[in-house]
This record gives sequence, structure tokens and C-alpha cells, in this order.
Amino acid sequence: MFRPKTRITDTANEVVPFTTAATWVGLWSGEARFRGNKTSCPFCWDGGGRDPAFRVYPDHGYCFAGCGYFTVTRLLAVSWGLRNDEAAWQALERVGWKPPTRAERWERATAEAEPDREALAKALKYYCAAVDPQWERRQVTEPYASALSSCLGLLPLVRTEAECELWLSRCKEVMNSLLTGTTTSGLLAVKSLSGFYLIGEGHG
Ligand SMILES: [Zn+2]
Repeated sequence: MFRPKTRITDTANEVVPFTTAATWVGLWSGEARFRGNKTSCPFCWDGGGRDPAFRVYPDHGYCFAGCGYFTVTRLLAVSWGLRNDEAAWQALERVGWKPPTRAERWERATAEAEPDREALAKALKYYCAAVDPQWERRQVTEPYASALSSCLGLLPLVRTEAECELWLSRCKEVMNSLLTGTTTSGLLAVKSLSGFYLIGEGHG
């Protein structure tokens, strides 16, 4: 469930175009072509400019004379004599980047998180088995089979924590009323799930 915190160097590499960083250190000015622009490598002896070994690409650089791959952070750290994280912070400051607020990070994290639908399905089946000792046999017979499959069919609509809870409690109610004989029709039971449909549809 927990994702590693994004490193500031990754953020700088993502946010700052390599061409921009190359301009700051006087390595390159202008648009980078997709196939790369040739320039002399400032970090090694690459033939004195007759056969420049450094390539500036839109999102990275490469020195064919041995220095290898350059991210924005590496280019700036080496050029400015800073640690990678210091170079990353300075680069982000220059482009006016602001760290996301706690609220923005939270919103992003909850938007990305997917509920564990398999666990929800299991929880419902365990519940049924607990309510009805005959569940094992009954679950493949009507109206239980239809009701259960209607419940599981709603799972793709479940997205938030609140919806997980709502889904499970509504489905438990439905299965319980069927299994205990309070409701006898699978169709009725499924209709009583309609409150959940409405919430699910709100997401478009
Ligand atoms: Zn080099």
C-alpha cells in the first residue's frame, strides 16, 4: 500500500527539461532535436571539438567519450559542484516549482489507490458462510447465486474507502435477508442494492 517517497532528484529530472539545464551551464542553447544535438563534452577530452561527443536530447544528455548518461540533476551537480539533491533543489527553484502541499499529496494518493476488490469479495463470502452453515451448497443455487453475482458485479463501481464500507454493508444486508428468509426473492434483494448504484454512478 505504501509507495516510496518521491526523491527530489527524480522530481527535478521530470520537471526541468534537459535543454533548459544545458542552457544554464552554457552547454547548449536552442531546441533539442529528437535525435540529439552534438556539442563538446565539458567534462572530458572528447577530441577538442572536431568530433564532439556530447549529445543533448530533450530529456537527457549522453557523452560518447566515456562520461555516459546525464540526467538534469547529474549535469547540474557536476557543473555546479553540488550534491545531487542540492542541484535538484536549485533547479526546481529556478523554474519556480513548488512542493505539493500536504492536501495535494493526500488527494493524489487517494486518487491513485485502488481498493482491494478481491478482499471485499472474500469478506462477503466469509460473511455468508458465517450466517448460513449451508452456504457452501447454497451459493450455487437460486436465488443465492444471482444475488451473490449481482453483489460482485457492483465491485468495479467501488472506488473509495467509504464505498468499500457501503458496498460490504449493503451486500451483507442483502445476502443476510436472503439467507435468513427475510426476503425470498433474489430480484428484491438486488433492488435493495439500488442505493449503491446511485453512488457508483456519480463517478461517471
Ligand atoms: Zn565526456
